[in-house]
Amino acid sequence: MEELSNVGSRPRVVIVGAGFGGLACAKALADTEVDVTVIDRRNHNLFQPLLYQVATAALSPADISEPIRRTLGRSDNIHVLMGEVVSIDPNARTVSLADGAAIPYDRLVLATGSKYNYFGNEDWQKHAPGLKSIHEARQIRHRLLLAFEQAERSQDEAEQRRLLTSVVIGGGPTGVEMAGAISELGRFMIERDFRTLRPEQLHVVLVEAGPRILATFPENLSNYAADYLRNIGVDIRLNTPVEDVTAEGVQVKDGFLPASCIVWGAGVKASPAADWLGISPGPGGRLPVARDLSVDGLEGVYAIGDTALALDEDGEALPALAQVAKQQGTFLGKALKSSLLKGAAVPNFRFHNRGNTAVIGRNAAIFDFGTWQLKGRFAWLLWAIVHVYLLVNFEKRLLVSVQWIWRYTTRQRGARLIDENFIAPDK
Ligand SMILES: Cc1cc2nc3c(=O)[nH]c(=O)nc-3n(C[C@H](O)[C@H](O)[C@H](O)COP(=O)(O)OP(=O)(O)OC[C@H]3O[C@@H](n4cnc5c(N)ncnc54)[C@H](O)[C@@H]3O)c2cc1C
Repeated sequence: MEELSNVGSRPRVVIVGAGFGGLACAKALADTEVDVTVIDRRNHNLFQPLLYQVATAALSPADISEPIRRTLGRSDNIHVLMGEVVSIDPNARTVSLADGAAIPYDRLVLATGSKYNYFGNEDWQKHAPGLKSIHEARQIRHRLLLAFEQAERSQDEAEQRRLLTSVVIGGGPTGVEMAGAISELGRFMIERDFRTLRPEQLHVVLVEAGPRILATFPENLSNYAADYLRNIGVDIRLNTPVEDVTAEGVQVKDGFLPASCIVWGAGVKASPAADWLGISPGPGGRLPVARDLSVDGLEGVYAIGDTALALDEDGEALPALAQVAKQQGTFLGKALKSSLLKGAAVPNFRFHNRGNTAVIGRNAAIFDFGTWQLKGRFAWLLWAIVHVYLLVNFEKRLLVSVQWIWRYTTRQRGARLIDENFIAPDK
C-alpha cells in the first residue's frame, strides 16, 4: 500500500462536490476509520432532475434540495465545508479554496459536475438561463408567471403575443420536459384563472438544431415524444440552430421569435477539474479517468460523475447521468475504504444501466432499457416512482409524493408565486 502523507494519523479523503456522485461517495465512507472532508460551494444537495418542476411552479425549491450538513452530519468522521475550489496542487496534495484556505488530502475525489454550454455565447445566458441551480429555476418561474400577469393587462396585440411566447432551446430531456410542462401549466392557468387571455394564444416553441428531439433515445420513442408534445400545443422546430438570443427573443434561420421566457437546454460542459490539474480535457471538457476512476499520472486523485470522462468495457464514454454519478460514488467510496484500511487495490468500475428516461407531460414519459422500451402512462408512473425513490431522504419522498398526488388529481400548481423583490438579472 502506498505510504500516506499523514503517517500515524487516519487517512484523509477530500471529496469536492456534494451532488449525486460526491454524496454517494461520502455516504459509503461514513462511520469508518477514514477522515472525510466534503467541500461544496453550495450548502445544499440539489436534485437536478426535478428542477424543471420548480421552474414551472409544481414544486418549491426546498422540496428538491437538502442541506449537505444535515445529510452527512450524523457521521463523526465526515467534516462538511462550504467553499469554492479554485485550484489543486497535486504535488503538495492540497485543494485551494477561493478564500485562500488549503485543504490537505491523501485521496482526492473530484465530483464537481457540469454546467450549461453556451458554445462561446456566454452573453446569451442572462436572457436564456439553463436549469442547473435553484436561482435559475426561480428566475425562469419568475419570468413565466410575470409574463402571464403582464399579458392579462396588455392592450397591444404584438406585445401580448410576445408575452405569451416561451422558447425552449435544445430538444434533449431537459428541453422536452420544460416545453411540455410550460405548455400544460400555461393552458391550465389561462383557462381557469385569467379573464382576457385564451389558451390558444399560448405559444411554446421547442428549438432543436438536429433532425429530431431526444436524439440519445431510439427513434420510435423520440417520435412518440414529438407527437405528444405537438398534441399539447408545442411548436417543434427541427434543424433550427439558434443564431442569437436577446432580451426580446430568439433569432433562428427562419426569422426572429419574440419571447418573454427563454430557457437554455442545449448541451453541458464539465466543471474545470481538468484545468485545475493541468490535464488536457476530453470531449465536453471532461477529465479523462482510467477504468478504476483514477486520474492517470496523479497518485491518489479520482474523478466521478459529469466531470469525469470514464469509458465502459467497450471503450464508450459513460453518459452524464445521475445514475452513473451515483453508482461511481458508491463504488469509489467502498473501494477507497478497502484500499485505505486494508490495502486492497481499487478495482475497475462497471456501470449497470437502469434505463434512460425522459418525462414529456402529465401522463407521458419514455424509458429505454436497451433491450426493451416503455412509453405512455405506465412509463410516467414508473418515472414518478423512480424519481421519488431517488430523492435524498424519506421526508422529501413523502412531501413530493403527496404534492404530486394532489397536483395530479386537482391539476393545481402550489408554487405559483411571483417574488416582487426578485431581481431578474437581464433587465
Ligand atoms: C435539468 C436537469 C435534469 C436532469 N435530469 C436527469 C434525469 O432525469 N436522469 C438522470 O440520470 N440525470 C439527469 N440529469 C443529469 C444529472 O443531474 C447529472 O448527471 C448529475 O447531477 C451529475 O452528478 P455529479 O455528482 O457529477 O454532479 P452534480 O450533481 O451537478 O454535483 C456537483 C456538485 O459540485 C459542486 N461544485 C461544482 N463546482 C464546485 C467548486 N468549484 N467548488 C466546490 N463545489 C463545486 C456543485 O455545487 C454541486 O453540488 C439532469 C440534469 C439537469 C440539469
